[in-house]
Amino acid sequence: MLTDMLNRPLLDLRISVTDRCNFRCTYCMPADNGQKYCFMNRSELMTFEEITRLARLFVSLGVRKIRLTGGEPLLRKDIDQLVAMLHQIDGLEDLSVTTNGFLLKRYAAPLKKAGLSRINVSLDALDPEIFPAINGVGAKPARILEGIEEAIRQGIKVKVNMVVKKGMNDSQILPMAAYFKEKGISLRFIEFMDVGSLNGWKLDEVVTSKEILNMISKEMPLEPLKENYYGEVAKRYRYKGTDTEVGFISSVSQPFCGDCTRLRLSADGKIYTCLFAAQGTDLLGAIREGASDEMLAARIAGVWQNRVDRYSQERGKNPTMKGKRIEMSYIGG
Ligand code: SAM
Ligand code: SF4
Ligand code: SF4
Repeated sequence: MLTDMLNRPLLDLRISVTDRCNFRCTYCMPADNGQKYCFMNRSELMTFEEITRLARLFVSLGVRKIRLTGGEPLLRKDIDQLVAMLHQIDGLEDLSVTTNGFLLKRYAAPLKKAGLSRINVSLDALDPEIFPAINGVGAKPARILEGIEEAIRQGIKVKVNMVVKKGMNDSQILPMAAYFKEKGISLRFIEFMDVGSLNGWKLDEVVTSKEILNMISKEMPLEPLKENYYGEVAKRYRYKGTDTEVGFISSVSQPFCGDCTRLRLSADGKIYTCLFAAQGTDLLGAIREGASDEMLAARIAGVWQNRVDRYSQERGKNPTMKGKRIEMSYIGG
């Protein structure tokens, strides 16, 4: 098992399959950021064969979980084929996809056929006025809910992620909780994070997990659940008298860098040891220059063994901390 300078093992890999997105969420890729997004060319993207080769190597180095993300992963042509290729890797225990759900109704069946059993769908509001304003392209919540229903119908386990930002969608916390409790679907609240440099993040716009938990438990009593596995990011609760879970991802108010076991692979084949990293290490260039598996594994091991990142903990001590960093849509959430 590979461990870093703070003794954290490498267990999770997030693979971004595209930096493009059909949404312009205000907290991630705001449409009105004053500059044009400059996307990667097709030839710069890793092919499915390159992704699978790297994924296999990562699994041999200890990775047990892979999540496909982006940008919007369902925009990548034939994404189900990639899922099928990754699904065959021996030793990989968990494969999932994080999507905004806009194309899920169409892709749920092929994804299931390819072997996908879990999916995380992002949905920040149920209100038909609030949600389109957040996603920046006018997408209605009904469309995402149809995608979720279809995924469940196909036998895919769904978790819903909601980023909460003060004044944007805090009015939606209780309606979202009540709706997904009723449906028996796990909902996870994510604190608005200072990722990238375009979303104008301010500390006083963060609604903390504690505030959300208090708000919900006044209406719907909750009981805490034990950690499922080492390094679990969400603190989980259950609505009393049900099996339905609700989770809280407190990246800002209670950073979890101490057991952060995640590495990120961007769509152009660079690895990043932290969501807030400014620079990655190129693997795709090495692959295309003919590097052997041993050479690639040595490069990956070197990066992880030298890792010292704990950005969120450091920002906790210094909330105005700023620096050059990569956008979330590029590195993968
Ligand atoms: N497009 C897909 C989606 O939205 O699910 C996958 C990529 S997105 C970058 C991954 C996750 O990051 C989403 O759940 C999104 O809500 C979350 N995210 C993006 N920007 C964020 C921010 N500033 N703070 C907290 N979460 C954020
Ligand atoms: Fe929204 Fe995900 Fe697209 Fe970012 S990558 S703009 S969070 S849908
Ligand atoms: Fe991991 Fe970096 Fe997030 Fe800390 S800030 S939990 S090290 S990705």
